[in-house]
Amino acid sequence: MSEPRPNPFDLSGKTAVVTGGNRGIGLGLARGLAKAGAHVSIWARNPESSATAAASLSGLGGEIQTVECDVSSPEAVAAATEQTLDRFGRIDAGFANAGFGEAADPLKLELSDFHRILATNLDGVFLCFQAWGAHMTQRDGGGKLVAISSISAIFGTPMQPHYAASKGGVESLVRAYATRLARHDVQVNSLQPGWIVTDATAAAVENERFRETVVKRIPARRWGGPEDLEGIAVYLASDASRYHTGDSLRVDGGYTIF
Ligand code: NDP
Repeated sequence: MSEPRPNPFDLSGKTAVVTGGNRGIGLGLARGLAKAGAHVSIWARNPESSATAAASLSGLGGEIQTVECDVSSPEAVAAATEQTLDRFGRIDAGFANAGFGEAADPLKLELSDFHRILATNLDGVFLCFQAWGAHMTQRDGGGKLVAISSISAIFGTPMQPHYAASKGGVESLVRAYATRLARHDVQVNSLQPGWIVTDATAAAVENERFRETVVKRIPARRWGGPEDLEGIAVYLASDASRYHTGDSLRVDGGYTIF
């Protein structure tokens, strides 16, 4: 085990990867990590969005890299891992955040649509955890794996069965990797955001009736923003969480306890 730092939240000199880090929640995670001093490697498909995101993070802390990667592809994840290692030499924390949802009636959902969601939301987490975990166990110093799950993993979601199943699978993957990697000083956790305003929820937020119905169920009385995930990203990537593994951390303004 490496020596703990005087400030357990200090990420200077460490490298974090954030998949889907070019907007929304991923960009919030990346911003928190950069502010704490980490080098951040943003993996996503759209290079223009990634360049814009990188520009917005530049100067906050460590260096920012952008890598074009579709996390559902084993070859792309392997190549992206190599690109990040070529640039920074190591990956200390990996955030598997890339994902998407869509509405579908469970009685009419096509198998191909079911698999399309799983390919990004579940295969993507598996491929990243395997690549990053292998790297972290082949060198000294431990590491951190974080999957962005959802409260859909615990609630009944009548019109998003494939999305919910993908997130339920993510929770199980996290517990498997947490137990396998604990002896290597690698902590593995999931993050369950509540209702967060991003491109993915824009249509729901614009629907006043829906937006206000949700707010009434949130004790904090507001939707969250990507900035609400900055602090938890730092905690999960830092020495501060060194004995915290196999957990699901909910950041939802109290939604699930109300
Ligand atoms: P956004 O749609 O705002 O962002 C999605 C991000 O994922 C983009 O950066 C996108 O970049 C990237 N992405 C999508 N598919 C792939 C892929 N195959 N390979 C690589 N990157 C990909 O979504 P959110 O920020 O809202 O969601 C982020 C995560 O948080 C998701 O896993 C989502 O399920 C989860 N979540 C969101 C909640 C919310 O309320 N917003 C609540 C709970 C969980 P690009 O298009 O360039 O590839």
